[in-house]
Amino acid sequence: LEVIASVEPRIAEATRQELADQRASLKLIASENYASPAVLMTMGTWFSDKYAEGTVGHRFYAGCQNVDTVEALAAEHARELFGAEYAYVQPHSGIDANLTAYWAILAHRVEGPWLRNAGVKNMNDLSEADWERLRGELGNQRLLGMSLDAGGHLTHGFRPNISGKMFHQQQYGTDPETGLLDYDALAAKAREFKPLIIVAGYSAYPRRVNFAKMREIADEVGATLMVDMAHFAGLVAGKVFTGDEDPVPHAHVVTSTSHKSLRGPRGGFILATEEYTPSVDRGCPMVLGGPLSHVMAAKAVAFAEARRPDFQTYAQNIADNAQALAEGFLKRGVNLVTGGTDNHIVLLDVSSLGITGRQAESALLDSGVVTNRNSVPSDPNGAWYTSGVRLGTPALTTRGLGADEFDQVAELIVNVLRSTSPGTTSAGAPSKASYVIEDGVAAKTKAAAAEL
Ligand code: PLP
Repeated sequence: LEVIASVEPRIAEATRQELADQRASLKLIASENYASPAVLMTMGTWFSDKYAEGTVGHRFYAGCQNVDTVEALAAEHARELFGAEYAYVQPHSGIDANLTAYWAILAHRVEGPWLRNAGVKNMNDLSEADWERLRGELGNQRLLGMSLDAGGHLTHGFRPNISGKMFHQQQYGTDPETGLLDYDALAAKAREFKPLIIVAGYSAYPRRVNFAKMREIADEVGATLMVDMAHFAGLVAGKVFTGDEDPVPHAHVVTSTSHKSLRGPRGGFILATEEYTPSVDRGCPMVLGGPLSHVMAAKAVAFAEARRPDFQTYAQNIADNAQALAEGFLKRGVNLVTGGTDNHIVLLDVSSLGITGRQAESALLDSGVVTNRNSVPSDPNGAWYTSGVRLGTPALTTRGLGADEFDQVAELIVNVLRSTSPGTTSAGAPSKASYVIEDGVAAKTKAAAAEL
């Protein structure tokens, strides 16, 4: 920090403060974690200065021999960790990974056959008229993904996102009664819509997915199954999700982040079957530019960490702690979407407490508990105010909390939420954002949270 402070002291101070804040609060954001010192240190090295567009042994710059070592090792660890045929570790983030995967699937299923049919090897040899026809074909494809309010991600075909604009899209949801994925309804939709791609995976669904069933549906309608395991990659790596719940043997293409339950650096990666390998391998120049070599190095370190036996214990603890947290809420009378959890996510429905997700999130933050508000299925408060709060156990599990502590966390949260009521706007009108917490509750909770 002294080195940073000698250039820009305010950045050094913000960095110091971030550490202090993270230490003093309970981090329950389901997509966050604490990377190891080895991972953090690997990101702060000279690889940051190196350009390396291309792939291992096939770069557009000279002097990439050490980046080649790094990228090959990261890919090897990823393949071994997940039992995948191929791994691509260049995407800078989860969104980059999804975008790269979409274009790779389009290249494999649409562009390649189209060019072969036209008898053209190189796209640059197409006439202007044929080029326009190919572009039309690429823009005329269909994607079926999980809707945002059911727990899907923006990149799964949400209209305002590029994925909702580059494809004709439809979305599947969950059963309105149970909140669970309805595979029969999904299959019926797929039969009718006939998508090129079905996307499985989620950001806020507190249950496991049967990927074998998803593959059956995809095969029936001739779709490519892409699974976005960004959230639960740690549970796959740690062998908590096996058999039908492990996406790797069932999906054609798997995308992921490396920084959530997997506990690596911020970044993305893609696993693919051999069939899709040549297309995914063209991520650069198709979608990406120069890879972040220092982050690829940190991914290699994180994958190596996740290959150790103690990572399996960590992953099982994540799931056990989520159970303890969910039970802590249920026994104190708080509603949960789907009535519980069997992954790392607990989704509170705070509507019966008379507050919005936004008010709950703010009151909890004042009390030293960091969460994020989240829509619940068919949310009457929309995506901004919401009726839900999403909690995840990976970060506090890294800090060593166990089932008893997670029960105490539930107690602290319930106490804050029951002590919070809606406030009013400055004009005295009802507000979905402002809130009032009973005197002393926030300070007392903050002290208790720091103790945990
Ligand atoms: N996919 C899923 C399922 C996610 O939950 C997220 C992140 O929230 C992403 C993709 C995007 O990841 P990133 O923020 O690294 O782009």
